Amino acid sequence: MAKYFYWIDESCNRLGEKNFDLYIREAMRLARVAVSRLENPNDTDFARVFNFLLKTPKTDKAKFKYPDQWYAWNECVEDPSDYKTTLDHVIADLSDFSTSWARTGQRDKAEVRIYADQGQRYEEDPQVPGLWQDHENGVNIMVKNLTGPLARTCHPAYCPPPKKFVTMDFFDRAWIGVRTKCLQSLKRLEFADGTELSMKVDDFSLDFLAVTILHEFMHCNIYGRVDAKIQPGMGTSGWKYCLNLNKDESRVDAECIALLAFVAGWAEVTRDGKRIGGFTIARSWDKIQPGCNELALCESEEQKKKMEGSNKWNEYFLDGDLVNTAAQGMLIFYDDITS
Ligand SMILES: [Zn+2]
Repeated sequence: MAKYFYWIDESCNRLGEKNFDLYIREAMRLARVAVSRLENPNDTDFARVFNFLLKTPKTDKAKFKYPDQWYAWNECVEDPSDYKTTLDHVIADLSDFSTSWARTGQRDKAEVRIYADQGQRYEEDPQVPGLWQDHENGVNIMVKNLTGPLARTCHPAYCPPPKKFVTMDFFDRAWIGVRTKCLQSLKRLEFADGTELSMKVDDFSLDFLAVTILHEFMHCNIYGRVDAKIQPGMGTSGWKYCLNLNKDESRVDAECIALLAFVAGWAEVTRDGKRIGGFTIARSWDKIQPGCNELALCESEEQKKKMEGSNKWNEYFLDGDLVNTAAQGMLIFYDDITS
């Protein structure tokens, strides 16, 4: 039984496709694959990917609250009995996303209202440049470049009276490179000899609408994940972006969870002629030696202070050196995909 509903505006019928819903279902499928891989105690490969993206091993027992925005958007107070480990937060959000949503034809009933009208329904306030108003949904946002990013999720909850829905816009950039709805269809791609030696997550993820969809859904009130690091001129998506977040930021970030699901799905992509194996992030993580990097690029401020003066590598810390193929987000084919 669906707990939540999304509504898709006609403007989403782009690319000659009539069914934007298929992209949403692919996002849900990827989330499901990620959950089952995280729940498999033998899948040490995906445990490693989790560690890359969340900067936290699966075994970490520390418990955390929801992101601060979650409490604000849901108008509730912190309750320590809700605290979960990083792994449990991730599993809870991905499994909820993959099982609790259904499409509705009634916009007013939907928790998510999805558009791709390139911001046409917005009007700029003549008195206040940069203040955009979407009268259809009662959304106001203050932003310089309305249609610049891949996508945008807006919370009308900021405007009284509180409302429990968001609007999502998928702008032109989200559609430009979209080649396929479904990661599994990449199985049919012929990998020329050696092609896979230079494939990176970002070669695909930024053009993969399902990843952008999953990222945006993580901005809903229900999950409360945010863009943890917004810097002028820098995006909030992609492998490199995720690796530049520290542990505290990664835990609440929407893109880290979207890419986690994306990489999970690559395990099902095989090379022509192969029946076993699949793709995953390069396992050069294992080659990072203690003392090889003292820049605590991916650590929380607290950890960083603790590590000052020491150059020890530990399991919480991934080398930010882009020469490292794992840090580059290189996708490699392995016969034994889980180990
Ligand atoms: Zn975002």
